[in-house]
Amino acid sequence: MATESKLLQGGLVLTHGADDHVLPIKADLLIEGNVITKIEDGIQPSAEYEVIDCTDKILSPGFIDTHHHVWQTLLKGRHADHLLLDYLAPDVYWGQLGGCLECLDVGTTTVVDHAHVNYSPDHGKYSSVYCYCPTPTLESWAPFSLTSNLLPDWVISTLEALAAKAPFGNGRVVLGFAFDGFFLPKEVIVPLFQKVKSLGIKTWTAHYGQNAAQGSSSLPELLDGYGLLDSSVLLSHAGGATPEDAALLRKTNSHISTTPSTELQMGIGDPILNPFRSDIDILSQCSLGVDCSSNNSASMVSEMRLLLQSARGAHNAKFLGKGVLPNNIYHTVEEAFNLGTISGARAVDMQDKIGSLAVGKLADIVIFDALSSSMVCGAQHDPVAAIVLHSSPADIEMVIVDGVIRKRHWMLENVDVKLGREVWDGEKRDVLAWKDIARELVERRKGIQQQIEKIDMGAAKEDVIKSFYIDKRRLVDTI
Ligand SMILES: [Zn+2]
Repeated sequence: MATESKLLQGGLVLTHGADDHVLPIKADLLIEGNVITKIEDGIQPSAEYEVIDCTDKILSPGFIDTHHHVWQTLLKGRHADHLLLDYLAPDVYWGQLGGCLECLDVGTTTVVDHAHVNYSPDHGKYSSVYCYCPTPTLESWAPFSLTSNLLPDWVISTLEALAAKAPFGNGRVVLGFAFDGFFLPKEVIVPLFQKVKSLGIKTWTAHYGQNAAQGSSSLPELLDGYGLLDSSVLLSHAGGATPEDAALLRKTNSHISTTPSTELQMGIGDPILNPFRSDIDILSQCSLGVDCSSNNSASMVSEMRLLLQSARGAHNAKFLGKGVLPNNIYHTVEEAFNLGTISGARAVDMQDKIGSLAVGKLADIVIFDALSSSMVCGAQHDPVAAIVLHSSPADIEMVIVDGVIRKRHWMLENVDVKLGREVWDGEKRDVLAWKDIARELVERRKGIQQQIEKIDMGAAKEDVIKSFYIDKRRLVDTI
């Protein structure tokens, strides 16, 4: 693995100052090993440095995606409920690999992977914070029924085995935990989380939505009552969070991941998504995620933009509905940018290591081409606006994670799959190019399609509604 020193010369470096204000500075940036050791003007090149010309480039902190089901690559383009799919272990390996590379391609350098595809002990043996998730498994397709035991013995023994080997790869992949079984009694939940803590797991995550069709109750309140709400907690969505929820989350410094594409599409919460709601004080606890990459792009910039503009649209609509115009713009591109960078770092308690470009932090850097047709002029006027509102993944020329170049000249580098093979063993070749991986994914997608065609989706949907206690009278077509 190439970890030699790199001198990034003459770029516009996006640093963070007080109050998270972004300060673009023209400077050289030196990476030694996996750490940023200098950001200053005129660093002298040395024979040990790989010198990378960053003239007319923007150097941004790598993006931090705090809620993503990375395995879903093979489901892209369809609207299936992933619980309906009998997913095979070798396909999870490839789906996961493809998902991680998509993240790198779009500039995501840290991802909290809510890995809810653990159908067997082998499935779990296949990110940055890999949150192992006990997963409901199917007893039968028709009628649709789930196994009654969410926590068979192999779940805990697999978690223990993973914890014994963590961290993985070169140390950047750490073990987390994901759990969506809070319908289980307190006597099951509390010892489970004692176990999770005893394994040294620092971040755990859960879906939390106040779902109108299932009735609602406050997960933060429940967790607080169990003594589990603290800074290790990262709740995804929190649609419909109340002022009391927000107060609990602030008091305990627990966090939220808002995922604009899926929340807007699937009706989880208000059109003004949590970070920019004006009715509750919750922005300080928020970060951003991509959620289902089967439904939407893995681009964190897309999520920043969607969040900002949908919040502005909903805000403006209130004024327009009363025949007046808003006098001020609603929220800023800088706030949206920070949700995908420094706020994401805080959500996983890694703000001293990632989330901004600063001496002593890990070298997770995204390099944008400031002269691209999308970014030119915007990049020179306001680089944060250029990234949030004008850029696409096609403008990302280079991605560096932990001091290692993962994307260069707009192309993903080859992947060394030997790293971590003791855990993620799914391929005999040691090094894979993106094209090898893409061809493998296309072939495996055909197999998934053949399985899906055997399922009566209409009947399966009816059974899912029953199994998840959804009140059918509250599912309506028009209002
Ligand atoms: Zn999710």
